[in-house]
Amino acid sequence: MENQRILSYFDEILKIPRPSYHEAAIADYLERFGTQRGLSVMRDSCNNVILKKDGNLRSPTVVLQAHSDMVWAAEQPAPPGNEIPNKVYIEDGIMRAKGTTLGADDGIGVAMILAILDEDDPDLPPIEAVFTANEEETMEGAMALRPSCLDGTYLINLDSEIEGVLTIGAAGGISSECVLPICKSPSTFQHTVQIQVTGGKGGHSGLEIREKRENAIHLLVRVLRSLPRTGWELAGIRGGERSNAIPVGAVAHLNTDCPQDIRQAVANFTTQHHSEWRDDEPELTIRAEIASRMEQVYEAESAEQIFLQYFICRTSNIFFMTPSW
Ligand SMILES: [Zn+2]
Repeated sequence: MENQRILSYFDEILKIPRPSYHEAAIADYLERFGTQRGLSVMRDSCNNVILKKDGNLRSPTVVLQAHSDMVWAAEQPAPPGNEIPNKVYIEDGIMRAKGTTLGADDGIGVAMILAILDEDDPDLPPIEAVFTANEEETMEGAMALRPSCLDGTYLINLDSEIEGVLTIGAAGGISSECVLPICKSPSTFQHTVQIQVTGGKGGHSGLEIREKRENAIHLLVRVLRSLPRTGWELAGIRGGERSNAIPVGAVAHLNTDCPQDIRQAVANFTTQHHSEWRDDEPELTIRAEIASRMEQVYEAESAEQIFLQYFICRTSNIFFMTPSW
């Protein structure tokens, strides 16, 4: 019964688009939930929402916290304001979404808190339910939260991964942005080859990082470094989908007079290293094809900067790479 109630709230949350930076609709919903039940309702300019419910006054107030945003990723992009999973199904007792993220992180935490707020149990302590915005990208919501809004001395965060496990500490994370001065000049080579890594499994930069999934950017740069040092120039490189997801794809453009040699070298790399990812990444492929000629290429020093950056970053991880011109 309890699960049913939690899932019925989760069902409602599934219908509300709530990618990070777009939490107004979910904040409206939470506000309405509180108002309809006579709870004290607060909302700030970041779309953080706090709902307070009186309880057994002999118990200390307990703060329950979840985040209202989700990582939105979809195979087919959705028009703005429609970022909701449209194919949700249950397989072997696990709810999943087809073609999009489900948003169980942290929709299920939000749903659990709503189910608790809906309880009539007189023994429950006073509860302060805190729903923070933009946890997945910037933590902006949590950082903007004023501590004076809360009286509780205990806080339970409902954003953990394993059912029945209480986490009492956690490691931090760091994001960095490198801006490299890049110079381009006209290419002297006649052809352009596109080298593309596609079909990686991807996944969350924290959770799935231990599962030996390939980082498409790493792999692409390895391919480039395996090529003969001369006879080509880098015309473009791009990879990754989000700053907190393992890249599923990356692409580079090379100018050369001998496209066949480049294609052969890429094929050799694949043959030589395929066994490294074959079992864990069955869909992953590396392809080299002739592309329409690019006129500008990175100057040698700039290309070297890009590769160097890769080596500096490889011990942590790079998840995103965009050209800066
Ligand atoms: Zn989360």
